[in-house]
Amino acid sequence: MPALQPVRGTRDILPEEMLRHRHVEQTAFEIAARYGFAEISTPIFEFTEVFSRTLGDTSDIVTKEMYAFKDRSGDSITLRPECTAGVVRAVLSNGLAQHLPLKFFCRGPMFRYERPQKGRQRQFHQVDVEVLGVAQPLADVEIIALGAHILEALGVSEKVTLELNTLGDGESRNAYRKILVEYLEQHRGRLSDDSLARLERNPLRIFDSKDEGDRAVVAGAPLLTDSLNGASREFFDALCEGLQAAGIAYRLNPHLVRGLDYYCHTAFEFTTEALGAQGAVLAGGRYDGLMEQMGGPPTPATGWAAGVERLAMLIEDPAPPVRPIAVVPIGDGPHHGAFGVAQRLRRAGFAVDLGFSGNLGKRMKRANKINARATVLLGEDELARGAATVRDMDTGEQSDVPLASLETHLARYR
Ligand code: ATP
Ligand code: MG
Repeated sequence: MPALQPVRGTRDILPEEMLRHRHVEQTAFEIAARYGFAEISTPIFEFTEVFSRTLGDTSDIVTKEMYAFKDRSGDSITLRPECTAGVVRAVLSNGLAQHLPLKFFCRGPMFRYERPQKGRQRQFHQVDVEVLGVAQPLADVEIIALGAHILEALGVSEKVTLELNTLGDGESRNAYRKILVEYLEQHRGRLSDDSLARLERNPLRIFDSKDEGDRAVVAGAPLLTDSLNGASREFFDALCEGLQAAGIAYRLNPHLVRGLDYYCHTAFEFTTEALGAQGAVLAGGRYDGLMEQMGGPPTPATGWAAGVERLAMLIEDPAPPVRPIAVVPIGDGPHHGAFGVAQRLRRAGFAVDLGFSGNLGKRMKRANKINARATVLLGEDELARGAATVRDMDTGEQSDVPLASLETHLARYR
């Protein structure tokens, strides 16, 4: 056993990096709340069917990337590779389909068996929003605006581009499929084995291939946008007009398809050049057919997911956490008294680190190391007369402060 190493493609997130992750997640959550999204949390594993029946049996996720296993009772279980299917399952399980529209925010770890690289892991984290029960393109405009707002709040707007496409409705895609297959048949020889299989089952998926040969072939392919029927064209026009009215810049990318089968109409990705091949930071689209496919009533829906790790790499350093107050007993006598003082300050809202091991030098060293703003030194004599020495760690200035007014004195260091 390769002892003491995390499993390939997984990582420990240590405190400094965790601050960045938390900042990404929390910013997304707070802004989503302003748009009326309520947070829900679904299990990180589901019956395999929840994903295999919905994501599409030609999708990369289902064919290659799922962490699926049999549990002890023989049930086939999969670690969730994405949020949407689980959220839709939860809506059905909890009878929420009666209460549309619904706007949900989710966050947490996702699992995909992929080749690990910078910005691509086997366990990664997403923040995710879903709007269920709204057919109007304005819902797509709103979630894209929300995504843009979050990216702006994270300070990365300058580094990302919104790419936009439409996949049309079923009728448009069927019409296009014939035209596309005809074209691809002429270039069979240059397609990867994966794409030859896709050609039979889901040719559109070839646009999502990362294989060089495939990419060269699709570069010359006829476009889905030329096969759109009236209704699909109208939907897409309304989406584009909505984005323009909202002042959201986008670039049409007729080759953008989403990796999963359940998408229709809107498809979009915010991409960056700053992360090498792992350019997509926030991506989504409309999935009107998914709920019905899972056995629920036909329900229009739209949503997106963003990669927390990728965004955490793009942002500037977030604000550091508040600097703590160090409470340092002098000698072993005043330990209990010092603990009491620390607790009092914590209840008053201060972040407090109690330094009680080693000699005084060690304790002060630790106060420095944790970047304490001030240190409250408590000797036995001082405690006995109800006072403490407060040291401003930036100026080195020391004052004798009555314990009764400690909170008032320390207020300046908040
Ligand atoms: P990619 O094309 O990079 O494989 P994807 O289309 O598979 O992305 P989605 O399923 O749309 O990704 O997931 C939404 C977001 O989650 C992506 O835009 C990305 O930021 C992030 N993401 C997806 N897979 C990974 C991964 N393996 N590691 C880290 N982040 C990921
Ligand atoms: Mg992928």
